Amino acid sequence: MEIKNLSESFSVTGQINAADLDEIKAAGFDYVVCNRPDGESSDQPPAEEIAAACEACGLGFAYLPLTVKDMSSSHAEQLSQLMSVESRRILAYCRSGKRSATLWAMAVESSVPDEQVHKALQESGLGVSEAIAVLEHRAEVVILGGGAGGLATAASLLRRRGDLDVLIIEPSEEHYYQPGWTLVGAGVFQPSQTVRKTSALIPTGARWLRDAVSEFDPERSTLTLESGASVRYEQLVVSTGIELNWGAIEGAEQWLGSHGVTSNYRFDLAPYTWQLVRQLQRGKAVFSQPPMPIKCAGAPQKAMYLSADYWFRQGRLNEIAIDFYNAGEVLFGVADYVPALEKYVDRYQAKLHFKHQLKAIDGAAQTAYFDDVATGEQQAVEFDFLHVCPPQRSTRVVRESALADAAGWLEVDQYSLRHPRFENVFGLGDGCSAPNAKTAAAVRKQAPVVAENLLATRRGESLPAIYQGYGSCPLTVERGKVVLAEFGYGGVLQPSVPRFVNDGTRATWLGWLLKARLLPPIYFHLMLKGREWLAAPAPAAKETAT
Ligand code: FAD
Repeated sequence: MEIKNLSESFSVTGQINAADLDEIKAAGFDYVVCNRPDGESSDQPPAEEIAAACEACGLGFAYLPLTVKDMSSSHAEQLSQLMSVESRRILAYCRSGKRSATLWAMAVESSVPDEQVHKALQESGLGVSEAIAVLEHRAEVVILGGGAGGLATAASLLRRRGDLDVLIIEPSEEHYYQPGWTLVGAGVFQPSQTVRKTSALIPTGARWLRDAVSEFDPERSTLTLESGASVRYEQLVVSTGIELNWGAIEGAEQWLGSHGVTSNYRFDLAPYTWQLVRQLQRGKAVFSQPPMPIKCAGAPQKAMYLSADYWFRQGRLNEIAIDFYNAGEVLFGVADYVPALEKYVDRYQAKLHFKHQLKAIDGAAQTAYFDDVATGEQQAVEFDFLHVCPPQRSTRVVRESALADAAGWLEVDQYSLRHPRFENVFGLGDGCSAPNAKTAAAVRKQAPVVAENLLATRRGESLPAIYQGYGSCPLTVERGKVVLAEFGYGGVLQPSVPRFVNDGTRATWLGWLLKARLLPPIYFHLMLKGREWLAAPAPAAKETAT
């Protein structure tokens, strides 16, 4: 038995036997912790046997079994409670002592300085790389999600305070420019224009951990990751996006990508949309829109307009019937834009069906099943081409956490974007509860607000910035023309330029120029770099930002 002292009151060792307990007691320990699950090896005495022997010789005992993979902040919390008893001297054991040492490093993270923990681990000679890694998974600001919101916020923070310690947690090696998928589905963009390596977009000065959060513990300002590692933050920004709930449409996952069933909501399928559009000479083209909220509320009808425009230009519209099934009651949520959109509905002779929700697809029979939302009656609709937009909801990890509101969204004050119950947590993007249009355009305005307010919170000052609900939806009504919807909370129009430059309530070429040429560089070179062009946060009125 080789005992390694990590502090005056805590030591670790490899597997012990009942016969070792006299020596352990003589060395001054009064408590034994077993971190090894029973049954790991055949020569391992069960914890019960050690517990009984401890009791017999007057030593305390606790069974706190764990593996490196499942080690979590709750294990660390339990150990720190055991350690909190005054003058107790603990000897913890596992197979080699490494797991116990790693858990100790997590348990003392907030009470013992890093250097002291590092030194103790190094001097122990245990080679505890897991423990060192645990110590490294901490940051002043942890950002969840390396999508539009996560990267823009990291960049905006670092523009303001270059020395801030920012850790981005993002599982994907690829970052997608999702607004480009509408144009891929219309043959205007190549798919490659909408994807970049995440590593190339991480702002200078930020660190990237390729992992995903699996559990939040906001009371302790810690997270558990899918790898099992634990992360401690001083402040947290959550931008994990929205979940596409394909499972809510029976058959969708099976038929997407074949039999004429497609969706611009998937990177891999947007090129299939364009292939189908070109191939379709005659028949029935059906487009679906689920209940709100969804990301880019205009995207389902954009797919319809651009497909119809192609058929129109090819002279095929007399042979192709277009039906748009919308679970909602209106074509677009802000009435000012509806007349311009209706003109295009007429031009393309599209039939609108409100209050109808797509429930099932039978690809082999090329039939879609829609429920009448009011009566519950089901209608079978045959198609040759079906563009599907899935229902959407908050990501599982957020909706099952203490950070969620009643509807499952990451709860934030809609103006300050700070969590109302956990002051060191902020949220933005598609997954937060603010009632704006869920768009990258909204994120462009939200990120600077989060950056300002988060840094003010660090300084103990009141929150200086508010978000007024800006979102934008460039409705691509034809190749070369866009109805540029820009509005804030309550549908109040918030145009970026005066009406004489661009009238957003009409289809304009300037809107198309913005969508097809200017927005991608604005996204990659301004927004994701913290260059806040036309995105300066509005100052907070004292009564709104809380
Ligand atoms: P995302 O950019 O989706 O990023 C979320 C990130 O979180 C992802 O990288 C994901 O991997 C990561 N993540 C998920 N779970 C975890 C986890 N557990 N741990 C850590 N990370 C996690 N917007 C516009 O402004 N204009 C448009 O014209 C437009 N058109 C669109 C068309 C389509 C077809 C689509 C799909 C979207 C469109 N959007 C448009 C919407 C826009 O893309 C989103 O609003 C924007 O990307 C939201 O940013 P976000 O950071 O909230 O989410």
